[in-house]
Amino acid sequence: MSGLMQGKNGVILGVANNKSIAWQIAKKLLQEGANIGYTYQDELSSKKALSLFEKNNAAFSAKLDVCCDEDFLALNQKIEEVFGGKLDFVVHSVAGGPDLEDLQGDFFAVSRQNFLKTMEISAFSFVATLRNLAPYLKKAGSASAICLSYLGSERVVPNYNVMGVAKATLECSARYMASDLGKDGVRVNVVSPGPILTRAASGVGGFRQMLKEFAEKTPLQKPVDTEDVASAALFLLSDLSKGTTGQTLYVDNGFCIR
Ligand code: NAD
Repeated sequence: MSGLMQGKNGVILGVANNKSIAWQIAKKLLQEGANIGYTYQDELSSKKALSLFEKNNAAFSAKLDVCCDEDFLALNQKIEEVFGGKLDFVVHSVAGGPDLEDLQGDFFAVSRQNFLKTMEISAFSFVATLRNLAPYLKKAGSASAICLSYLGSERVVPNYNVMGVAKATLECSARYMASDLGKDGVRVNVVSPGPILTRAASGVGGFRQMLKEFAEKTPLQKPVDTEDVASAALFLLSDLSKGTTGQTLYVDNGFCIR
């Protein structure tokens, strides 16, 4: 089999179940010949993910709570053992931190603790990921990392609240890291999809209503297809995007231009 990702080794963070955006991306990359190691948050919340990894020839799976430095060190060890310390791509598809009540009503009602927790899990975790994996990505000579964001980073989207503030930090961090790592041939980009019903999204107040109204407000007049999100990720992770770094690519059927 030959494909756009043939011979490429990578790591995907953020598969919880088969609805996860990270899993849709994984399927696309597998079709194109990628060799993938996965991380999961913990055994309890990731049972479905673990069975997906088992059924789909995962190169490895490793527990990684993004708040835990020891877990990052254990991931490094896996990459050295299984991939010989060379990594061609990374997908960061992790978000969390707010309580349900933070994702409705006034943004500024958020507690100090939940604000900081959201920043750590949803924004700093991408920095921690690339800080840990940069030596392996540099070794590839030409490598690519992506994270997932949402339009609430630049616009006030009702109920998205503290997640929007974290996504703004995430996107800005991606640009700084694109600048840091460019000289070593590592590209860093952001995929920003429109709304998709997943475990994380279902916690945002009024999400189902937003989903219902979304299609008619978009230029392309249709809901977001996760297959399209995965194709955009494939573009950014493959050699097709060798000239692109520090960008946010919207996959929202044009919603963001209105
Ligand atoms: P999801 O619930 O399937 O994925 C979220 C992942 O984050 C889960 O795998 C969860 O285990 C992981 N996670 C949370 N806290 C963690 C921690 N402390 N350590 C390690 N992992 C942790 O939901 P999803 O919608 O697929 O989300 C993936 C990404 O896509 C997120 O960054 C999300 O903000 C982004 N996104 C989602 C939408 C949408 O509408 N679903 C739109 C735009 C962007």
